[in-house]
Amino acid sequence: MSPKRTVPRPELRCPSCRFELERFWYYCPNCSRALQWRDELKETGAECRYCRWMVSDRHRFCPWCGRNITDAASSPEPLRAPKGFRFERRCKRCGGGMHYPMQHCPWCGRAQQWRYERFQNECPHCNRGVDDWMDTCPWCGEDATGRDLIPRALRRVRQLLIVSRITDWGYRVILRPGVSGVDPDTPKVVEVDRRYVTGKRRRDEISWNTLTGLILHELGHSFLYHHWSWTRTGRFRRAFGEVRKAYRVSDEHWVDFERRRIATTLTDYVSRYAGTHPQEDFAETFRFYVGRRGRLRELFSEFGRKRKGVIVFEKFLVLHDFVRSLRGWR
Ligand SMILES: [Zn+2]
Ligand SMILES: [Zn+2]
Ligand SMILES: [Zn+2]
Ligand SMILES: [Zn+2]
Repeated sequence: MSPKRTVPRPELRCPSCRFELERFWYYCPNCSRALQWRDELKETGAECRYCRWMVSDRHRFCPWCGRNITDAASSPEPLRAPKGFRFERRCKRCGGGMHYPMQHCPWCGRAQQWRYERFQNECPHCNRGVDDWMDTCPWCGEDATGRDLIPRALRRVRQLLIVSRITDWGYRVILRPGVSGVDPDTPKVVEVDRRYVTGKRRRDEISWNTLTGLILHELGHSFLYHHWSWTRTGRFRRAFGEVRKAYRVSDEHWVDFERRRIATTLTDYVSRYAGTHPQEDFAETFRFYVGRRGRLRELFSEFGRKRKGVIVFEKFLVLHDFVRSLRGWR
């Protein structure tokens, strides 16, 4: 046994679930536990008297909870980096030094924003950095996926997939800024543009019915990427064509997902948008198939009335048979 007492490194694992954390996260992104970063190693010799997080006795405000902690030891002038903290940038208001990710200036108390470069994305609740795998935002503790903002549409989507007998392939819907879509490199992650949900302007809002359609369409892309080898089969290619052909995504097509009726204008496609690319054709076929609960007879009689080409029937049969074959393998 060594007589020397070594100081342990600060525990960077969640005390509840043992998940690996980054220092100064407010919540465990895995189990949602609220975290506290105390001065366990006696780096500064001071803790905030309100939130108990590690502070410097030179600070005037707690950089973590923002409260005024000024006392006789506090520096009257903003400092660069008191003992225990690094200098990462200056406060825009007072010029004092700050250590990432201080949420308040320790010298003047001003709320701070950081560029969360090491994260993949933004929390739909607080706009701070989150990664796509996170369930809980490490900053605000809310649902990092934003799924809590669209419960009705997601419940509907789940029910429709069940009655259509499509087994969950592990898809993960997340609300994000930017465009809706699925990246072929992460086929299970379905991004939905959060502007449709949290848009402040009226015209940015869409009904939950349209949202359901949009999610089903994007799930179609996810399903296809997940079963990509299927696209090489002769039957798939005869029905949908060459899905590998390059194309550009336009994001102004969501209005089309409002249409729950089969289009009458194009004989070989279920919707106008389906005609833009074989991948969109598949995603639209998937949307109608699931939206109509996989009821082919109902769909086919509608196709008949609307004088759809034989190829449209075949697209739905190809999907239907594939869905059934997946269940058969279980
Ligand atoms: Zn945890
Ligand atoms: Zn505090
Ligand atoms: Zn300041
Ligand atoms: Zn957040």
